[in-house]
Amino acid sequence: MNYNIAVVPGDGIGPEVVGEAIRVLNAVGKKYGHTFNYNTVLAGGAAIDEYGECLPASTVQACKESDAVLLGAVGGPKWDHVPGDQRPERALLGLRKALGLYANLRPAMIFEELADASPLKPSILDGGLDILIVRELTGGIYFGDHVTETDDNGTVTAYDIERYSDYEIQRIARTAFEMASKRQGRVTSVDKANVLDSSRLWRKTVADMSSEYDNITLDNMYVDNASMQLIRDPKHFDVIVTSNMFGDILSDEASQITGSIGMLPSASLADGNFGMYEPVHGSAPDIAGTNQANPIATILSVAMMLRYTFNLGTEADAIENAVKQFLRDGYRTGDIATSGEAVCGTVETGEKIASYIA
Ligand code: NAD
Repeated sequence: MNYNIAVVPGDGIGPEVVGEAIRVLNAVGKKYGHTFNYNTVLAGGAAIDEYGECLPASTVQACKESDAVLLGAVGGPKWDHVPGDQRPERALLGLRKALGLYANLRPAMIFEELADASPLKPSILDGGLDILIVRELTGGIYFGDHVTETDDNGTVTAYDIERYSDYEIQRIARTAFEMASKRQGRVTSVDKANVLDSSRLWRKTVADMSSEYDNITLDNMYVDNASMQLIRDPKHFDVIVTSNMFGDILSDEASQITGSIGMLPSASLADGNFGMYEPVHGSAPDIAGTNQANPIATILSVAMMLRYTFNLGTEADAIENAVKQFLRDGYRTGDIATSGEAVCGTVETGEKIASYIA
């Protein structure tokens, strides 16, 4: 089969980690008889330098014409002086909106070999962790009205509107239930229904949807409790489904529990199978160009691409197993090394993981 991928390397370590993910994809293609075609386009700081804007229309067009998008990371100190609405990071919001990417999937996984990297006690983690956070990505308070106003007395007031419609909640709930049906079959819906009307609609809509999924257990949790339980009893969770802002905060908390940002992939999905795949980390300007970046988050992101957009589960498993083998054989990138392990650079890590697939 032929698959067309729009590649947005971005800035900083983006091009380095994307290069290794492509090396691994090519190894998958060779082994399983697929052809991956890459159309490389610019966004973020690189696009500002070349075109004077962070998200050129040609980039959006190329992404729309592809089967999936692979993105590195955008931003860096070089563009810190650029006005807010033109900053490199705005390209991400623009792409999410233009591509209709409403479901953000962020797995928080701890590989057994890296359990020591977590700040949580081994007794809490008991050997591993595997949570999937499903965050609504195109609605809620980040996309509601933002108003700052001054009254006649000079008092300044600001407010932001959290707004959700039932259809927005239904489609993200469906994503969560579908994901859970391929995992342990448990969904925790996180809200603040004791205070917010938008959360009461959220809770009711998710509950209504759950009647379509007999095989799934649904529980509800207030967001303040969820943030505690993630630390106290993370194994309670299988799939968490939540709104844009709560998901933003909880997914960062969950990523810290894993202890290694260089290992965490993500997917943002639209209706149908289309998706954009990227590591959770940023452009890491402090280590850009030094061959020290951990490419595993991006390599695991292409595994998600194979699983969710191309329906190639066996090939996705092959990538994940190759990463496990790399760790089991005692190799580490600098960010996850403790002592006594062989430290690999970005390129060597990509080469080794690709060789396990071959
Ligand atoms: P960051 O994730 O880029 O870096 C945080 C720390 O983690 C740094 O010390 C970095 O060296 C390290 N790190 C990150 N990824 C790593 C990897 N793969 N291997 C080894 N170490 C890694 O976050 P930041 O420093 O807050 O942001 C830097 C720039 O990235 C900013 O311009 C920010 O706006 C941007 N950013 C972009 C995205 C994105 O494109 N999705 C996300 C977050 C931040």
